[in-house]
Amino acid sequence: MSKQNYVIAIDGFSSCGKSTVAKALAKRLNFVFIDSGAMYRAVTLYFLENNVDINEPLAVKEALDHIQIDFSPSSGDQHVILLNGQDVSSEIRSMRVSEHVSQVSAIREVRKALVRQQQDLGKKRNIVMDGRDIGTTVFPDADLKLFMTASPAVRAKRRFAELSAKGEETSMEEVQTNLAQRDHLDSTREESPLRQADDALVLDNSNLTQEDQLELVIDLVKRNINLDI
Ligand code: C5P
Repeated sequence: MSKQNYVIAIDGFSSCGKSTVAKALAKRLNFVFIDSGAMYRAVTLYFLENNVDINEPLAVKEALDHIQIDFSPSSGDQHVILLNGQDVSSEIRSMRVSEHVSQVSAIREVRKALVRQQQDLGKKRNIVMDGRDIGTTVFPDADLKLFMTASPAVRAKRRFAELSAKGEETSMEEVQTNLAQRDHLDSTREESPLRQADDALVLDNSNLTQEDQLELVIDLVKRNINLDI
């Protein structure tokens, strides 16, 4: 019997270009791209807008019951994330959300709710999902696991360019500090911390163009998954 569906897991530090490669790969393979970080960001935005006290387990639980996250069918290269029906794709990338997301994503109840939803999303279709714990916790049996890295300087430069292009006022120093803080919190939290799965393939893209990186990843897919591509 042929396999029902394939899962490609892409994990790594903040601003390593995971989503960029995951999106391009999904497009090339005709898989569904799922940005798990966007889900944690959407929950964070809800918590901020509704003044949810993250130190109050009951308040967190109650808030989670009121949160519905959906990905609307993407139009072109636009990937739209809906928080209770509202398009928050741009808002979730703000510095305000970036500054709080790692605290929110460390909460056990938050992870439980989102991991369940992520696993459901990958049950029946071919997906490429990027995040921090996809290869370790969400899909430990993924067909291919990649762990991406890039030098801190390259990562900060990329994130700064992304924020500046959107007209957000920030400094390189602020971006660098935020990336370092998130990486630290993400790697040291108790609940499924960011770490490389034992069977993940490591990809350092500090000196790769997006095109070269995609070709390299396609090659890894061909070698590791029996797909007709
Ligand atoms: O991928 P992105 O940088 O948008 O993720 C934002 C934050 O969401 C991360 O810094 C991390 O705190 C959290 N996250 C997580 N687990 C994932 C994806 C993201 O904890 N699978």
